[in-house]
Amino acid sequence: MDINETKIITKGMNSIMNTYSRFPLVLEKGEGCYVYDTGGKKYLDFVAGIAVNSLGHGNEKLVSAVASQAKDMIHVSNLYWTRPQITLAEKLTDHSIFDKAFFCNSGAEAVEGSLKLARKYASRHHPERFEIISMKDSFHGRTFGAVTATGQTKYQKGLSPLLPGVIHVTYNDIEALKAAAGEKTCAILLEPIQGEGGVHPADAEYLSQVRELCDAGDIVLIFDEIQCGVGRTGTFFAFEQYGISPDAAALAKGIAGGVPMGVILAKDNFAEAFSPGDHASTFGGNPLAAAAANVVLDELFDNGVLEHVKSSGAYLQGKLESLRAQMPEKISDVRGLGLMLGLELTGLAAPVIHKCIENGLLLVSAGPNVIRFVPPLIVSEAEIDQMTDILHDALL
Ligand SMILES: *Cc1c(COP(=O)(O)O)cnc(C)c1O
Repeated sequence: MDINETKIITKGMNSIMNTYSRFPLVLEKGEGCYVYDTGGKKYLDFVAGIAVNSLGHGNEKLVSAVASQAKDMIHVSNLYWTRPQITLAEKLTDHSIFDKAFFCNSGAEAVEGSLKLARKYASRHHPERFEIISMKDSFHGRTFGAVTATGQTKYQKGLSPLLPGVIHVTYNDIEALKAAAGEKTCAILLEPIQGEGGVHPADAEYLSQVRELCDAGDIVLIFDEIQCGVGRTGTFFAFEQYGISPDAAALAKGIAGGVPMGVILAKDNFAEAFSPGDHASTFGGNPLAAAAANVVLDELFDNGVLEHVKSSGAYLQGKLESLRAQMPEKISDVRGLGLMLGLELTGLAAPVIHKCIENGLLLVSAGPNVIRFVPPLIVSEAEIDQMTDILHDALL
């Protein structure tokens, strides 16, 4: 680290609240799947803003759409209509089983809004219901509702009292869910692939049983696809690979390629639970963010990115499997779908990640023992090879 970088970091520590244990890097430029620090050192970026930079860094179409929209109009109130937002809502509903979209600015907001939608739906149709069931080891964000739904106590310490009426059950355990669900259950919230919790995919049989349970009881089924959605697994939604669908879904992270945006999607009978005044967001779906998201969706649906994720995801998985075969004493599992993969180590992930950074590779953990791979969706096989070589050496 050069002296300049140390100075910048010291200023940051003196002026920014201490909520992250950050790596000692100051990043200032990105190009494709690479980022550069202030000293000019180049890093292969397999973090991608934690599954955010779906088109990589400096994507020309994204940059020019954002620049041109910024010239026309960055923001206008949702008291008025704008074309970029309507175009985006149509793209999302045309390519999904959902009928309506609500736009916000982050994952936590999309979860928060989904929970409000579920309670509103219950208040109309089943006024005695208010309970929300979510999963142990889940992650849903940091606002009070979302952090209550999050099934990890480390995120909840010192915040009580949390939102009342939220129950956590073991993931992939249908009997636990059936035992918890009752007359007061209004919604079930889960990630089809738990991200933060360690990259754990749901079992197909489990998800179809959850769907049946919700159908039988008119319980709102909400999927948090904030990390696993937007093409990350090779289909636009991860749930498409399970042959069932939820009543509402939350998206964020990769949706606008790095411009902040969250989305709630719902079928009409659930979306109708919101009336004017029930929910709102000043910035939600503003023209700048919507213009960015329109580019991301066009790349996914019309320009081959979804197909690319299928092939590069399989390629990455193959490379990780062969690493595991070479180092069974270091690597205990490879999990995930598409370009959302996890490598479970027999030891801690942090020292390996630090070595990779020294050698020009950015990786992120998901819990103490799991290295998570969420590169830009445009990652090439050559870049996957380079990543695997650096990781291999770090594991030695
Ligand atoms: C990141 C994430 C969130 C929270 O998103 P923010 O934009 O940080 O609020 C919620 N759910 C899942 C599954 C996530 O991965």
